[in-house]
Amino acid sequence: MKFKVPRGTQDILPSESWKWQQVEAIIRDVCELYRYKEIRTPMFEQTELFQRTVGDTTDIVQKEMYTFTDRGNRSMTLRPEGTASVVRSYVEHKMFGYPDQPVKLYYSGPMFRYERQQAGRYRQFVQFGVEAIGSADPAIDAEVISLALDVYRRAGLKDLKLVLNSLGDGESRKAHREALIAHFAPHIGEFCTDCQSRLNKNPLRILDCKVDRDHPLMASAPSLTDYLNEESAAYFENVKRYLDAIGISYELDPNLVRGLDYYNHTAFEIMSTSKGFGAITTLCGGGRYNGVSEDIGGPHAPGIGFAMSIERLLLALEAEEKTFVDEPDLDVYIVSLDEEAHRKGFTVLNDLRNAGIRADMDYMDRKMKAQMKSADRFNAKTVIVIGEDEVKENVVQLKNMEDGTQQKVKDSLLLEKIKEQLK
Ligand code: ATP
Ligand code: MG
Repeated sequence: MKFKVPRGTQDILPSESWKWQQVEAIIRDVCELYRYKEIRTPMFEQTELFQRTVGDTTDIVQKEMYTFTDRGNRSMTLRPEGTASVVRSYVEHKMFGYPDQPVKLYYSGPMFRYERQQAGRYRQFVQFGVEAIGSADPAIDAEVISLALDVYRRAGLKDLKLVLNSLGDGESRKAHREALIAHFAPHIGEFCTDCQSRLNKNPLRILDCKVDRDHPLMASAPSLTDYLNEESAAYFENVKRYLDAIGISYELDPNLVRGLDYYNHTAFEIMSTSKGFGAITTLCGGGRYNGVSEDIGGPHAPGIGFAMSIERLLLALEAEEKTFVDEPDLDVYIVSLDEEAHRKGFTVLNDLRNAGIRADMDYMDRKMKAQMKSADRFNAKTVIVIGEDEVKENVVQLKNMEDGTQQKVKDSLLLEKIKEQLK
């Protein structure tokens, strides 16, 4: 029997994980700049949490969740996204009582969705996201968008596009909903069965349908923008003004709906405009969710956030042909020529590492030539050679691989000499 990674998942091998680490370091730096603190929540939650927040009629809840019954007969779900868990934690730990508001959090970890596998779409993927909870200042909407763009820019992306929309508040949505039903109802028979059931449950979802996206009624559908009440329109104007103030350009798309029910007011996506990018061009999605805390039994706590997958960020970097800095080279490789020398080499290795020097040695009992080849492949800056004579004389041979010079060094002076050479 042969085992393979489950469909839609991938092994991140060392040559790739180095890239991941660099992206993750950028994320940590940017979050620190903006004073967002990391939160780590469990990878599974009660199923109902996602039903209540993401929404019963969304694709995520209806088709994509990994739901299972645990041994205590509870329905659990591997998290398909991060916001629900973060807000759950916010309510559970009464973060609304913290002296510093809004509470600014970020997370990064695997999410799970049973999707059809294609480029940029996995069943397990890593999302980085931020949530700012407790403020309804339109400036924080702009801050969150700016943070996302900063991550991409620092990672090296240039071909980016910000798409913006407002979904308005409850009242605006209700008026729009009625207009949508009136628009689609006479022709709903021409739409997929999902859309037919969406019509009365959640007609906004029709606009996000991937099957019927080219139906002529889609383009002519009543636009949310025309149904924003005064307050919602003013809020949206302010968000745009803050973005303008810091030089962030955007494209307005009145049909940008987002695949989760909890959004209101600001909704945005960041897309890659790189030619090398495949069919899926959305890198990041986010928006405001003012009702989620209340939906799960917490106080009123307006929030805004986004999520991006590292997988798509890396694909975008590839599309723009960005190269990564190389992994740091090995400082020292130890070559030993017999068993005694191997034993001595092993203690030298330990001393080097204790001194913070990146070092390794041969564990395959290979000939000198093969060991030197390894040193070359690791790009070792220095090679220490230990043979029978070196053991007897309490010395080692120190070879500087950069200039090719070699010298005999006393054991007691070795650390000092190496540090000097590595400078
Ligand atoms: P899509 O329309 O592409 O399915 P979505 O609306 O489901 O996106 P969100 O739930 O808002 O996306 O997720 C935010 C971001 O997470 C996306 O912009 C994308 O970068 C990433 N993402 C979502 N699903 C996947 C997946 N299956 N594999 C990799 N990345 C994903
Ligand atoms: Mg999706």
